[in-house]
Amino acid sequence: MSGTAWIVLSPSRKKRRGFFYSRESKRNAANANTTGRVQNVKKLYLLDSTLRDGAQSVGISFSVQDKFKIAKILDELGVDYIEAGNPGSNPKDMEFFKMIQEHPLSHSKVTAFGSTRRKHISVEEDANIRSLLAAGTDCVTIFGKSWDIHVTEILRAALPENLQMIRDTVAFLKANGKEVVYDAEHFFDGYKANPEYAMQTLEAAYESGADCLCLCDTNGGAFPDEIYEITKLVLDRFPVAVGIHAHDDSGMAVAGSIMAVKAGALHVQGTLVGFGERCGNANLATVLANAQLKMGYGCLPPENLERLTQTVHEVAEISNISVHKNTPYVGGNAFSHKGGMHVDGVMKNTLTFEHVPPSSVGNSRKILLSEVAGRSAILEKVRAFYPEIKKDSPEAARIIDMVKQMEHQGFQYEGAEASFELEVRKLLGTRTEFFELLMLNVTDEQALGGEKKPSCATIKVLVGDQPEITAAEGNGPVNAIDIALRKALEVFYPEVGEIRLTDYKVRVLDSESATAAKVRVLIESTDGHEYWASVGVAVDIIQASCRALMDSIEYKLHKSQAAVKSAASAANA
Ligand SMILES: [Zn+2]
Repeated sequence: MSGTAWIVLSPSRKKRRGFFYSRESKRNAANANTTGRVQNVKKLYLLDSTLRDGAQSVGISFSVQDKFKIAKILDELGVDYIEAGNPGSNPKDMEFFKMIQEHPLSHSKVTAFGSTRRKHISVEEDANIRSLLAAGTDCVTIFGKSWDIHVTEILRAALPENLQMIRDTVAFLKANGKEVVYDAEHFFDGYKANPEYAMQTLEAAYESGADCLCLCDTNGGAFPDEIYEITKLVLDRFPVAVGIHAHDDSGMAVAGSIMAVKAGALHVQGTLVGFGERCGNANLATVLANAQLKMGYGCLPPENLERLTQTVHEVAEISNISVHKNTPYVGGNAFSHKGGMHVDGVMKNTLTFEHVPPSSVGNSRKILLSEVAGRSAILEKVRAFYPEIKKDSPEAARIIDMVKQMEHQGFQYEGAEASFELEVRKLLGTRTEFFELLMLNVTDEQALGGEKKPSCATIKVLVGDQPEITAAEGNGPVNAIDIALRKALEVFYPEVGEIRLTDYKVRVLDSESATAAKVRVLIESTDGHEYWASVGVAVDIIQASCRALMDSIEYKLHKSQAAVKSAASAANA
């Protein structure tokens, strides 16, 4: 703490925190008030602000329908509060609040967000405050200024006037029966600049009846140890629920939130995928997984934690943003192992290279396939769909050989497990031939300098003895083939309509002669439930793409076939 000149105010040093919650007490969420003043549970309340702070992210633009879908998903996950927008400043948000009144959520409380009343007018005449009431939520989040320079230079108000604005607003909302979360904007910066004044702003909110004092690191510059110390001082002074709202500008939003919880905060704000302006808000999925798995807090109903990975990806999908593969707990690579020693270790004992079991958050272990990953990694992967395969069975040797040969041709099964599974099935004679591609023709007119015309693909497939010819236009040749293929196959297999491409990568493989170089195409697909990747290698990019696309569809068909079989055997049992 050296060099930091925080003045420790002299509030009563009585241990008042034990007054409203006790760490030793058993979790008893059912009896708890949400942010209530007296609680006897080790429950950590989550406020997700994807729809409000998250909507400030570059590249995000939610429609009212998007917001509604995300709210439903967060509700099913069991998030306590969903901060859904600012009804006073955005008509789209007001439309959402109307919609949610007609279709209420089952668990989450929706909260409307707004600022303290404007200066020099009464709270009753403030149109923004009136729209907060009109939003019809049980809970309202009110943000107010804690940092003196924001009061004098941004609001251009006198310091006492700001305190009055806080008091009037919180008291008015409480008088109207609202649960009030008070967001102390820039609290940590404000405290460092003028601790006495920052505390007075909290006092104003507390005395007017705020149910939770949420300390905000709005600029994301505070260090976790600072957050810990300052949160503790606030908790020592106010016998009310204290929360944390951190931004990630220093890369420490999650760490800061965790330290606030360690100091005694029992309300955490963030966004499930970490969306938010600039560098984002605290990633709520990471915070809650840490709190629930490692700190003994109840955040979600325990069985829902296993839906975390799926939920994060669903929210990201609706937001049209992909989850970083290295996101803790829920990212695609969070439990991926590559390289002989790590793979070997994790197979002997998963504790050796995994901090928690992947299934605890609904993720799965990925053993990355390659010749260097070694024999045991490859066989471990095969056992996921052929449990009977043994290390010394003759099939095992044939599979290892196949991987070597395919890698020599430029295939790479690391991260293309769908194609790997299909190759193994082919080798073992269990690959169903769902369709055959008889003809493919792509025209791609490149009008140099002019406007790009759509590409056109014509294909002919054979399913059983039934041929099907389709043509489709697309944005580039690969897109045209993708659309044509799925159009043709959907006639026979409706589930093909669920597939969407989520990623497409092309890599030119090293070659002495550049024109004869092979390309490797890696595509990632989803059906909304699962993600899978397939690979194609050829001298020609169209051929390589076509192979990866066909593998993707075939993999999906194998999956549905397996699902039908297991449903049938369950029915017979
Ligand atoms: Zn924020």
